[in-house]
Amino acid sequence: MHDEVHSGGLSVDVVIVGAGFAGLLMLHQIRRLGLSALVYERGSDVGGTWFWNRYPGARCDTESLEYSYQFSTELFREWKWSERFATQPELLSYAQHVAQRFDLYANIHFNSAVKKSHYDEKIRKWQTTTSSGECITSDFLILATGCLSTAHLPEIPEMDRFLGKVYHTGNWPKEGVDLTGQVVGIVGTGSSAIQVIPAIVPQLRHLYVFQRTANYVVPAWNGRIPSEYELSVMADPASFRRNNATMIRAHGYRNRGKDLSALSVPHEQVERDLERRWNTGGLNFLDGFNDLLTSTDANRIAAEFVKAKIRKIVKNPVVSELLCPRHPIGCKRVSVGDGYYESFNAENVTLVDISQSGIQRLGEDSIEAGQSSYRCDSLIFATGFDAMTGPILSINIIGRNGVTLREKWREGPRNYLGLSVSGFPNFFIMTGPGSPSVLTNMHVSIDQHAAWISRCINSMKTRQLTEIEATEDSESRWVDTVSQIASNTIFPSCNSWYLGANIPNKPRMFMPYIGFPSYESKCKEIEENNYSGFKLV
Ligand SMILES: Cc1cc2nc3c(=O)[nH]c(=O)nc-3n(C[C@H](O)[C@H](O)[C@H](O)COP(=O)(O)OP(=O)(O)OC[C@H]3O[C@@H](n4cnc5c(N)ncnc54)[C@H](O)[C@@H]3O)c2cc1C
Repeated sequence: MHDEVHSGGLSVDVVIVGAGFAGLLMLHQIRRLGLSALVYERGSDVGGTWFWNRYPGARCDTESLEYSYQFSTELFREWKWSERFATQPELLSYAQHVAQRFDLYANIHFNSAVKKSHYDEKIRKWQTTTSSGECITSDFLILATGCLSTAHLPEIPEMDRFLGKVYHTGNWPKEGVDLTGQVVGIVGTGSSAIQVIPAIVPQLRHLYVFQRTANYVVPAWNGRIPSEYELSVMADPASFRRNNATMIRAHGYRNRGKDLSALSVPHEQVERDLERRWNTGGLNFLDGFNDLLTSTDANRIAAEFVKAKIRKIVKNPVVSELLCPRHPIGCKRVSVGDGYYESFNAENVTLVDISQSGIQRLGEDSIEAGQSSYRCDSLIFATGFDAMTGPILSINIIGRNGVTLREKWREGPRNYLGLSVSGFPNFFIMTGPGSPSVLTNMHVSIDQHAAWISRCINSMKTRQLTEIEATEDSESRWVDTVSQIASNTIFPSCNSWYLGANIPNKPRMFMPYIGFPSYESKCKEIEENNYSGFKLV
């Protein structure tokens, strides 16, 4: 595949932004069509999430066998995961292996951040420019920029005064960090913090954990994958994948629950199921009954179950109460990991409640919160991401009539199927707002998006069509559908990043579509109806 050169610049059929799991598969699919494509990646290698999040303890919390590419049975069978929940280095090696195996490196430009992309209506092409000064023209522009790839640092007064080292889990130094014997402050208690804390406690002199909101953590019981189970999966990968895709979050078929309300059976039966799921470990903790995420009464049973576990694990009753979340379980991402609550029994760990005071300021060697000052050598911010829209809006995307995506999304990310935006022809977003995305096993969503987009582009090329674009009407109906589905669940009831609530001034809109199976069939139906809801030229 060679890039053509046009009037002093490069020209390809498709420009893809991002070389994480999504960008790699998209590139592979486009090349399989015999089209030319180029990927721009701001990092120096493939892997995305697993390139950037190198903090100690980083690993997936979807089981490795499920958190694997779906498109190639040979690939699936030849890669052997060493643990039930793979570590970051192993996930990064997997991405590198895939890029080598399918010869993808040749079409990726690294250390190149896309800054601007402009749709030129006269020639019906996208003009893209990068930080390294490259300009490229393409028929299609696909963003595979990730949902959790713009690290968020909270605004804290006098941040620059701190003279020690400051790290963000989402941008961890490649060369690693030696924290041995240090006094460390960690800000944030979400999924990354619950992984990093148990991993670093044994080597620290002291750890201060600054907690604004307590979160639910269920055990992983990580270990080797039982060989019998692995053999049974490898015997029929297609069924394994198909069955998982029938689950609302596209994973966990083997722990499928009952289509029953938790309120319709004796309380002890619900408790027994929760106990079994707790002892099994993993993200399927809330899959036992059909209303744990839709009924507040049912949800309370699961929430109280976890709180009882926290009170049992954490010896200091004041600390265990602080660690008990106040919101419904599941409306913020449930974390999976081993040893998090246990860490608070260690003598060198102090939990600091900042729910009322926040962090007032940083000193030269301290964090000041409430009435106290906490001396620290280094700080770790495990404060998450400007999720879903952050990476997209960091690029200046200009559509028809010079309208920018930033203007178009001022009130929230309006889209059709999460894949397309009206006013922005030949433009696709992978796992963006409006698609099931972060509420699913991302590999299943990525696979579905890459296949759908590549078939769409192939159909356009075969039929010699030049433009595809969502209509405003279909976009409005889709935005209503996504919020309607969410309003029947407990999801909108707390200030989560799904709603944009972790970022000051971000418009509040529940972004992901809930339910992979219904989303997948909707996309299929639209494709079969000659891309209904889209304008084709
Ligand atoms: C710590 C952590 C654990 C996770 N665990 C799971 C899990 O267990 N299961 C699960 O399903 N999901 C998990 N996720 C979500 C994870 O992001 C996805 O599973 C998946 O890796 C997303 O792949 P992606 O290619 O869409 O995005 P990413 O992996 O985020 O890749 C996007 C890439 O785009 C690049 N990029 C962004 N903007 C630009 C630009 N302007 N120019 C050039 N390049 C750009 C970025 O540098 C990045 O490399 C986790 C996320 C985190 C942060």
